[in-house]
Amino acid sequence: MAKPKKYIFVTGGVLSSIGKGIAAASIGMLLEQRGIKVTMVKMDPYLNVDPGTMSPFQHGEVFVLDDGTETDLDLGHYSRFVQTAKFSRKNSFTAGRVYESVIKKERAGGYLGKTVQVIPHVTDQIKQNIKDALEDADLGIIEVGGTVGDIEGLPFLEAIRQIRHEEGAQNVVFAHLTLVPYIPTAGELKTKPTQHSVKELREIGIQPDILICRADRAISKDMKEKIGLFCNVPGDCVFSALDAQSIYDVPLHLSAEGVDDKIVDKLGIWTGAPDLSNWKKMVDTIHKPKGEVKVGIVGKYTDWRDTYKSISESLVHGGVANQVKVTPVYIDSEEIEKGNLSALQEINAILVPGGFGERGIEGKIKAIEYARTENVPFFGICLGMQLATIEYARNVAGLKNANSAEFKPDNKENVIDLMESQKDVKDLGGTMRLGAYDCNVLHKHNGKTTHAYQAYGKEKILERHRHRFEVSNHFRSRIEESGLLVCGRYNDPKTGIELVEMVELPNHPWFLGCQFHPELQSKPLEPHPLFVQFIKAAAAAAKNGAQPKLKGIS
Ligand code: GLN
Repeated sequence: MAKPKKYIFVTGGVLSSIGKGIAAASIGMLLEQRGIKVTMVKMDPYLNVDPGTMSPFQHGEVFVLDDGTETDLDLGHYSRFVQTAKFSRKNSFTAGRVYESVIKKERAGGYLGKTVQVIPHVTDQIKQNIKDALEDADLGIIEVGGTVGDIEGLPFLEAIRQIRHEEGAQNVVFAHLTLVPYIPTAGELKTKPTQHSVKELREIGIQPDILICRADRAISKDMKEKIGLFCNVPGDCVFSALDAQSIYDVPLHLSAEGVDDKIVDKLGIWTGAPDLSNWKKMVDTIHKPKGEVKVGIVGKYTDWRDTYKSISESLVHGGVANQVKVTPVYIDSEEIEKGNLSALQEINAILVPGGFGERGIEGKIKAIEYARTENVPFFGICLGMQLATIEYARNVAGLKNANSAEFKPDNKENVIDLMESQKDVKDLGGTMRLGAYDCNVLHKHNGKTTHAYQAYGKEKILERHRHRFEVSNHFRSRIEESGLLVCGRYNDPKTGIELVEMVELPNHPWFLGCQFHPELQSKPLEPHPLFVQFIKAAAAAAKNGAQPKLKGIS
């Protein structure tokens, strides 16, 4: 008989944003490092079919997987903490997707005339999705989005309650993350919110096995015993998760508390201690850097940093590889547009990330011009690369009205245009180029190794995409002849059309743009090569000291 699968369900109580995703990812990492074949799943109770259509203001960045699935930023945490698991559409689903499947099945007559109900039909679909996601793994860490007590989370909680009932306590662990706040006027940590949140869970039939209590200071043994007593959990199953300097400290803290020991014990899994040596080395480098670089991220959603979560983490990874601390400086492109360029002088390198819509783009173009003319290391990602191409076309290739069809559909000099294959598609919904595509990296140009090749060290790469527009092949030769080097290409086997994937400036310390999103593949233990090289260039610029003057900006 096949070995039974093991399930760890992670729920959250009291408040959102207390680090449930990081806690789940940390548990995944610790169990993986014990040699267990793990996978991770995120279940989101909202009704959007996927987060692709949600504003990053509300929901943070959209994290894209190799198969093109648009997921939320927790899949990003999982990908950075877990090394071997490969994530696909199965690893992330929403209530919207569950209902979509149920309704499709109902329309196709799949329920044989029965009344279709939340219980059992929606809950069965949730259970099925969870089981499908665990197909290739021995153990799954399944995070339930939202906070216990939300009405929309109920079908998910009912589904996981049933899984425990069906699979048995030896195969299922319920881990509940709560907040234990410190109240200054009382001068103590308070356990009442935790008690209430566990009470809520128990009312619907879920008795947590372990509690992970987020707090800003140590939770004493006595207090853990007290929490345990009121929540019906043994005191040694109550753990603290203290605020950490770096998110990469969290698995080490949880392991020191004994969380992973307790989980394997409860699940009856026999393993040795996790091998945390590489992780510890990486964390040490984060805490004891040999220098600092400041990277300006010129963007639009400057007050909502989760929009650039994967980018800021990739910068940390690039910093680890170069043993420097990377301080991201968020610069509002609209300030630059107004002529307020002073922020650009405080930084060692500039990154223009992906984005949609016209707001703030002229400011980004100005920042790119500054980087190009003043030899400031520059990294343009997706929209950032498109704007670098526009800047070059306008200011070097003499295409004064260069722009993108995204912003000026009727303009005659759109060096960034809709992809050929999508020009006839009237409905823009669902027409994005999503997921992993291969790219050919140019090795040498005029006898010199390109920056792109220096980073990758190979000619064939696979990178993830999320965009609708492309460098126009109509204007490409004119721009190339003026000196912008196309150093990455994709040949579409269906249409035979070649697409520009990367551009760089040969006579610049480091100026590179890519149409794809390298930040989606960077991990602390495997930093993405483009981020490694970008930070290397930024560190060299920081060493040189002198900040370029703000001359030459049109
Ligand atoms: N808005 C641009 C496009 O659709 C860039 C997208 C992005 O930066 N992810 O092509």
